[in-house]
Amino acid sequence: MPDAILRLALLSPLRNLFDYRAPADVPLAQLQSGVRVRVPFGHRKTIGIVIEVTDHSTVPVEKLKSALAILDVTPLLPPSLLKLCLWAAQYYQHSIGDTLSLALPALLRQGELAEDRQERFWSMAPGVRLDDPRLTYAPRQRETLAIIAKHPHGIANQLLSKLLLSRASLNLLLAKGLVQVEIRKHNTSQRHSHWLAQPELPLNSEQSAAYKAIRASFDSFHAFLIAGVTGSGKTEVYLQLIHETLQSGKQALVLIPEINLGPQTIARFKQRFHAYIALMHSAVNNRERLKSWLAARDGRVDIIIGTRSALFTPMQNPGLIIIDEEHDSSYKQQEGVRYHARDLALVRARQEGIPIVLGSATPSLESLHNAYKGRYGLIHLNERAGNAKQPRFIRLDIKSYQLNSGISKPMQQAIGQTLAIGQQVLVFLNRRGFAPTLLCYNCGWMSECLRCDARMTVHQRYSELRCHHCGYAEQMPHHCKQCGIVDLHPVGAGTERAEEHLEILFPAYPVLRVDQDSTARKDAMNKLLATIQKNQACILLGTQMLSKGHHFPLVTLVSILDADSGLFSSDFRGSEHMAQLIMQVAGRAGRANEPSKVIIQTHFVNHPLLIQLTEKGYLAFAKQMLKERCSANLPPFTHLALLRAEAHKPGQAENFLDKAYSTAEYLLSKLNLTSIELLGPVPAPMERRAGRYRAQLLLQAMSRAPLHKLLNSWLITLEQIPGSRKVRWSLDVDPIDLY
Ligand code: ADP
Ligand code: ZN
Ligand code: ZN
Repeated sequence: MPDAILRLALLSPLRNLFDYRAPADVPLAQLQSGVRVRVPFGHRKTIGIVIEVTDHSTVPVEKLKSALAILDVTPLLPPSLLKLCLWAAQYYQHSIGDTLSLALPALLRQGELAEDRQERFWSMAPGVRLDDPRLTYAPRQRETLAIIAKHPHGIANQLLSKLLLSRASLNLLLAKGLVQVEIRKHNTSQRHSHWLAQPELPLNSEQSAAYKAIRASFDSFHAFLIAGVTGSGKTEVYLQLIHETLQSGKQALVLIPEINLGPQTIARFKQRFHAYIALMHSAVNNRERLKSWLAARDGRVDIIIGTRSALFTPMQNPGLIIIDEEHDSSYKQQEGVRYHARDLALVRARQEGIPIVLGSATPSLESLHNAYKGRYGLIHLNERAGNAKQPRFIRLDIKSYQLNSGISKPMQQAIGQTLAIGQQVLVFLNRRGFAPTLLCYNCGWMSECLRCDARMTVHQRYSELRCHHCGYAEQMPHHCKQCGIVDLHPVGAGTERAEEHLEILFPAYPVLRVDQDSTARKDAMNKLLATIQKNQACILLGTQMLSKGHHFPLVTLVSILDADSGLFSSDFRGSEHMAQLIMQVAGRAGRANEPSKVIIQTHFVNHPLLIQLTEKGYLAFAKQMLKERCSANLPPFTHLALLRAEAHKPGQAENFLDKAYSTAEYLLSKLNLTSIELLGPVPAPMERRAGRYRAQLLLQAMSRAPLHKLLNSWLITLEQIPGSRKVRWSLDVDPIDLY
């Protein structure tokens, strides 16, 4: 077929596919969807993935450029994963190329061979002589060839440096056809039956019921939500399900929110199994990532543990997907392809025909809703495993108290009493820095960021004002920028200030601060943990970093300094997030026999949501929230898509969105779509950020199908709106914040 045309997705944000003529010398059998192709594009070369092989194009064939080379002998991705990427591109309305990039390690995107270098063997090409005339003036290559000649069975790639063979010479010899490289696949791991490196814990009755329910649905798609309080033994259930998966010769994929915070989890997996466990996260280098990726694809990896994008790891023999802490917002990518790894994991599990388990002590309202609707099996673990007791919650009314660095008198007393009996205290304040703003008492000037509609945070330690939204920083001013008087005062409290104050209040005890600033240095977190594990009275103070991953068994008092900002957040998910944070932080404490106490400072002790949360628990709170969401027509009862736009000049973004609004309105009537509301355009809650003016248009739909029907047509028109190039815009399907 001389006219084979390759329809390619280029690895770029470009939404359309591009047609190229197939290279002349490539056998037809090698032209398959899913292989990489190197092609000319403008003045450079780039890489595309074959989506379709066809014999026609809307462009006249003679105008089509020829592809330069096919880079793969067989498709890179298993068909099911390619299908998942295509599905995601369509669902999130993003380019197929960018979506496929998520599934490909960097080295493959750069055109490297899809092979593990360690599987390479170098040997002399047949019929080559050591005195080949092409080497007369190349003594180093001659020497290299001589060494290779001594190893008729080939030299493994990792031995090259031991034999002092230079890679440069080898590559030159390879180019001349004097040596050859051969891939010898590692043995696929011996499937054995002794997976356990340590005995499994005997499950308690709740765990056992959970395990049995999920096990009964192995080998087909089923979704489960384990709503299990922290410490109820969810991880133990995962481990035993994975054991079952390994025993049936299959692979397991485990997603966790953030790798820095999850070393304890990973260590538990490693201790439990004799298995090839591959880690997939941002700190893994490119070479290592490619190696794991290939090994997972070829079925040699047994367990894949990773963050968000690990969802796209290919598996030859998938058996189980687990999403730990499924409520965590880090599963949602906030740029480029704005996918939600949990949601896509469900799609993947369905496509692969395997079970998926979502677990959390504080499930998202989305997942709970799905479970209540019967779409997921709902499993409760209400008791802590082992002996640990549930914490007791106390709402502390601070209306009549003055806060000093965020801390009220009664809170101070409670902290003091706990320390005095030799126990540890965890103080939670979700705001880093010294104070959220600097105020001039004389004229009322405040430290506004020049580039954002936001105040700059006081960072005392560095004597700086910093904007947490755009990263801008400046020297702390000595006098007011407006009136010149020296009367500037930090207002409010962040962790730095609370730390300073706690050190003054309790000089006999160490105060350990955990936030983005204090743990920026490598190892800082480990040092902190080491101190905490010393079992001495101390104060642990920090932001939401404390709510993830680590457990603090010796903490018996949790002090929540501010719950009100969450209750009255402008974002509709504000209270859900606050409740999750409070419960997660509370759950980190007190695993030993000692029951722990959680004291929450609030101006609104009678707030119904806070009462539900503290007296009836998270699920009662969530039910209440679901009712509110239902009556307000908010997710999960409706479906949202948010078109965000930003531009250098005021008005430009709104202008663009006005036009977008009109085309959406037109399409709604043309396509005869109902029950979709267009809300806006309005300025973003923080209108100016990093020097750009931002606005947004919200689409709210009662069901997904019409919404997606609209989006499919709408997105194409957006690119054609005059002036759209001056505006940076993006569409967020199922946004997690409206910010
Ligand atoms: P979660 O993942 O729900 O937070 P974990 O699986 O980490 O809970 O369990 C909490 C603690 O209880 C861990 O120290 C774990 O070793 C222990 N544990 C879990 N299951 C059991 C069990 N069946 N018997 C005894 N201890 C258990
Ligand atoms: Zn002033
Ligand atoms: Zn700023």
